[in-house]
Amino acid sequence: MKLKLAIQKSGRLQEDSMRLLKECGIDIGAGVNKLKAEANNFPVELFFLRDDDIPQYVEDGVADIGFVGENVVFEKNKKVDIAYALGFGKCRLSFAVRKDENYTGASFLQGKKIATSYPVIVQNYLDNNNVKAEIHEISGSVEIAPGIGLADVVCDLVSSGSTLFMNGLKEVETILQSQAVLIKRKELSVEAKLILESLLFRIESVKKANKNKYVLLNAPNDQLPKIISLLPGMKSPTVLPLASPGWSSVHSVIAESDFWEIIEQLKAAGAEGILVIPIEKMIL
Ligand code: ATP
Ligand code: ZN
Repeated sequence: MKLKLAIQKSGRLQEDSMRLLKECGIDIGAGVNKLKAEANNFPVELFFLRDDDIPQYVEDGVADIGFVGENVVFEKNKKVDIAYALGFGKCRLSFAVRKDENYTGASFLQGKKIATSYPVIVQNYLDNNNVKAEIHEISGSVEIAPGIGLADVVCDLVSSGSTLFMNGLKEVETILQSQAVLIKRKELSVEAKLILESLLFRIESVKKANKNKYVLLNAPNDQLPKIISLLPGMKSPTVLPLASPGWSSVHSVIAESDFWEIIEQLKAAGAEGILVIPIEKMIL
């Protein structure tokens, strides 16, 4: 048996989805065709689909799991479970108006025409804020709607905001933060569950490794207590004597997020020859 995984055929999530599988040591052979491919060394079969269709296919059991944006999961509202946040494809769904407009909060939207590819999420937001507006669903290039007189407001996915800016719009309110997630169908066979567990174990190891760095440094022995206190490590740092007397080599793992701050403190404490090395996998 193989676990059937749906990923985006082409688009913003495609490359990161494939990279994640590769980092998990899953080797995807040359595709059987453009729709399907199999892994050579892991019981998974890939289905390449439009992202909008992935929740439906997972609900129906055509696929067991899928990698798709949370924004699509909420919009489609299918009976699927979110099993894991994948950490790529980060973006937000925001309202934007012409840059000379004075947005005053949700009440600004009353009676306005809103162009969006996310009518369900937008309608929810309007209902929660007791606002009535006219939603125009369009499937792409939402940002041009105000320019051609189709809408007063757009609600669209944003990452840097440069697309809005280039179209004379400004982002005024975020209604959803999104990233790619792993969704799974409600009813998975025992076998499928086991394969999914093993896949999630690998994904977690990769994610943890990406979030951490391996650090090696040389420290004068009299500064060791201070330096060790700065380095938590997985258990505690490894300390090895150097050939030159009075010095030790210290090895540890530190979180990417704390990285710069800790490195500065280590230098201040007398550490030298600091090497920072990426970690490929991390199993705790
Ligand atoms: P498809 O042909 O599969 O329907 P699409 O055009 O709907 O593709 P893409 O533009 O490739 O979709 O975006 C796929 C997903 O990438 C989005 O649903 C969202 O989760 C994520 N994403 C991340 N950043 C952005 C961004 N700046 N704009 C749009 N989507 C983004
Ligand atoms: Zn799409």
